[in-house]
Amino acid sequence: MLAVRVIQEQGIHVEGINFYTGFCVEGHTHAIRKKDRAKPKRNNALWVAEQLGIKLHIIDVSEDYKSVVLNPKHGYGANLNPCLDCKGFMVHEAMKWMRKHDFDFLITGEVMGQRPMSQRKDTMPIVSKESGANDLLLRPLCATLLPETLPEREGWVDREQLLNFSGRNRKPQITLAEKYDIKEYAQPAGGCCFLTDPSYSSKLADLWQARGEKTYEIDDIVMLKVGRHLRPRPHFKLIIAREEGETNFLRGYRKNYLSMNIISHSGPVSLIDGEPDNDDLELAARLAARFSSGRESELVTVELMQKNGECRNFHVKPLNSEEIPQEWYV
Ligand code: SF4
Repeated sequence: MLAVRVIQEQGIHVEGINFYTGFCVEGHTHAIRKKDRAKPKRNNALWVAEQLGIKLHIIDVSEDYKSVVLNPKHGYGANLNPCLDCKGFMVHEAMKWMRKHDFDFLITGEVMGQRPMSQRKDTMPIVSKESGANDLLLRPLCATLLPETLPEREGWVDREQLLNFSGRNRKPQITLAEKYDIKEYAQPAGGCCFLTDPSYSSKLADLWQARGEKTYEIDDIVMLKVGRHLRPRPHFKLIIAREEGETNFLRGYRKNYLSMNIISHSGPVSLIDGEPDNDDLELAARLAARFSSGRESELVTVELMQKNGECRNFHVKPLNSEEIPQEWYV
């Protein structure tokens, strides 16, 4: 928001681009769980564009983005976040868009030293270079700490009016936001990309390990955002809803996965990912029953639904907590 305002102040027309990678934490994710209900159910990029009064272009890059997540040349950050490759990829995509739509240069809101991987003095030039943007990429919030870009040299932008923000301290940004009368803004650090989340990353790593290769489809990565994931055997795992919102969400996937419903008691819907045999299914039913209101009962009836809608019932004794090793929790 600040970078846009700084550039708009110079009378320059700005439009926004938002890339959908499949890993974005957005309003629809918050809408599933009760605990997140207080969070605004909105697409933050759209909301920001509205605040700024600029056009926003939302581009789905989820297919091409796979190569960034699966094989990042510069590796991962603290979790499975390939931030440096990701920035290079996004700026490259933005460049393609810029040329196609006859715009002149790119800006980002990056601040030197603000993020440990992609916003360091030594890595910011890597993004400019590897994206192919080179000196068409201007970072208005820290431009005076960086070499002059083409828009500055050509006089399209007055360098004197650009900024020198650096480091993790956000006070200068907050002061500038006050100057522009920006009172509300999206979560400033992390929190917008599941790849920076340790629990999400361990589920993604588990998925790759179970498949024996690094691949994913969009449904796989959406599913990692929802439910408790337990892997009792290497070849299958259970995704168990933690609350009503998740149960409703998982129900929508019953044609894609084997699913289990608790019939004799109240309990969550579970999906099974993998290739379970009959013994595995019985174990899965006992595990699912553990998370139902019948957990202390002698017998719980669990319905197994095939992807084609065929059903059969298991009458099982729920596992007790000692029978569920901590390692099963992904
Ligand atoms: S946090 Fe996520 S979206 Fe942001 S740069 Fe890193 S990988 Fe990309």
